[in-house]
Amino acid sequence: MLKAIVVSGPSGVGKTTLINKILSDADLKDKLMFSVSFTTREKRKNEIEGKDYFFVSREKFENMIKNDEFLEWALVHGNFYGTPKSNIQKATEDKKILLLDVDVQGAQSIKEKLGKESFLIFIKPPSIEELKRRIIMRKDTKDAEKRLQRAIDEISKAHMFDYVIVNDNLEKAFEEIKRVIKEAISKN
Ligand code: ADP
Ligand code: 5GP
Repeated sequence: MLKAIVVSGPSGVGKTTLINKILSDADLKDKLMFSVSFTTREKRKNEIEGKDYFFVSREKFENMIKNDEFLEWALVHGNFYGTPKSNIQKATEDKKILLLDVDVQGAQSIKEKLGKESFLIFIKPPSIEELKRRIIMRKDTKDAEKRLQRAIDEISKAHMFDYVIVNDNLEKAFEEIKRVIKEAISKN
């Protein structure tokens, strides 16, 4: 029984853009529930509390780790990010598949915990130069250099995923991810 679809890939590659399109797609939106993570990162101007993330203090996050509230968590670019266990419980109760946007470590943890009940998609940039352009274009990202360094390491792990999509042309990448998600759901 498929419980989770994970979308992973370097920061700035277009995961949020693709996920937002998936969540407003007429064929898919009712089948999926987006997994809102907790983070200690600062909120960006366009982000909404409880929709993009739950923005919490380091102290609150550490307490949640102590209380074993996370399905998985990771330290990414100096900030904590984590998926609460309650998200997967809620999705299962509502008969929905949880759609997660997590880093490569998070994706691996989900695979270890859920095995065949999870499907992992990696989004790759057409090139590092284009990734740099997208990160810089999103002016609210202060730590572009840190994100680029990490991207190179993450891209080397793409082979561990069930499916890899290159996000060059956004519409094409969206059609591809839509097809792959529909296939994963229909095999369920
Ligand atoms: P992520 O969630 O992976 O960090 P975002 O979805 O925030 O990435 O995208 C980073 C930037 O790249 C945004 O400004 C977005 O509009 C842009 N972007 C996304 N996909 C494409 C694409 N295929 N071509 C050009 N720009 C893109
Ligand atoms: P951003 O700061 O750009 O929103 O996210 C930075 C990175 O953290 C991205 O790779 C994103 O996928 C990842 N991320 C977001 N939420 C989680 C989470 O709950 N767990 C893990 N492991 N990574 C996450």
